[in-house]
Amino acid sequence: MNILNAGLLGYAEQHTSPESELLKRINRDTHAQVLMPRMLSGHLQGRLLAMVSCMLQPKAILEIGTYTGYSAVCLAEGLTPDGKLITLDINEELEERVRQYFNEAGLVNKVDYRIGNALEIIPQLKGPFDLVFIDADKENYARYYDLVFNLVPLGGYILADNVLWSGKVLDEKPDKDTRAIMDFNQKIQNDTRVENILMPVRDGIMIARKVKD
Ligand code: SAH
Ligand code: CA
Repeated sequence: MNILNAGLLGYAEQHTSPESELLKRINRDTHAQVLMPRMLSGHLQGRLLAMVSCMLQPKAILEIGTYTGYSAVCLAEGLTPDGKLITLDINEELEERVRQYFNEAGLVNKVDYRIGNALEIIPQLKGPFDLVFIDADKENYARYYDLVFNLVPLGGYILADNVLWSGKVLDEKPDKDTRAIMDFNQKIQNDTRVENILMPVRDGIMIARKVKD
């Protein structure tokens, strides 16, 4: 998951603003009580998402893949005072926990958390979304990108997480998810409607800025 060695990651975290008490608890509780805790963004990536959001000051954010709400709480930090974040997840088992976290974060009026299949929900959304964070099932990344593209205004941003897939994007015989990530990265690279950078932070984050319709 992490391409940085543990020493350097620790050093980077020691020179990055700390997590809030709530984020620390979401992180800790997710690791203690929830399946697949490594999916949580974590300290360094969470601060990056918050920093990006604060730079953009979005009025509307769409997140695909809420999990335990860690990245949603980070992304919401940069919302304008009347801004809204819609976050989608198919896993209803986490709903109660996540609603509690959003409540504690004071985000009940800012976050619209919807349970269901993102492939079915996104076509019903209106937009525009100044910032989209794609972080759900890897095999559907390209579909999510196509579904959200027209909901993003010129100058808007689409981020996608885990695009280095623990380094497996270099595999000569990639498995299904790896293939999907590789195809997604190539699709973004070939898309002349966006300017993009693959940031090798944590598990790799693709940042694409829409410059053409
Ligand atoms: N963004 C979170 C981590 C997301 S983990 C963070 O950084 O902390 C990926 C999530 O995508 C899981 O919770 C999973 O339930 C969800 N997911 C998988 N397939 C989905 C689908 N088709 N629609 C919506 N959510 C989906
Ligand atoms: Ca992720």
